[in-house]
Amino acid sequence: MRAVLRYVKHTMRPHSLSEVTHTSCCLAADCRWQVGPTNDGDLADDAAMAHTGHNAGHDKFARTIEFVAEVVQAE
Ligand SMILES: [Zn+2]
Repeated sequence: MRAVLRYVKHTMRPHSLSEVTHTSCCLAADCRWQVGPTNDGDLADDAAMAHTGHNAGHDKFARTIEFVAEVVQAE
């Protein structure tokens, strides 16, 4: 008996119909400021920078970028 094994290379990519969402949460102690989720990454950046401008020391954020990914056969 003989088996034929075939290795098929796959990759992951963003799904073509997926929207990208951005969320930023301030990491300063006792601060619960956050922006998003929004589809506008520039808006999320601008809002975080404005938050830092109004709150000294609030300059670190947990940034989440989410989208639907799919596994596809590599070409
Ligand atoms: Zn903050």
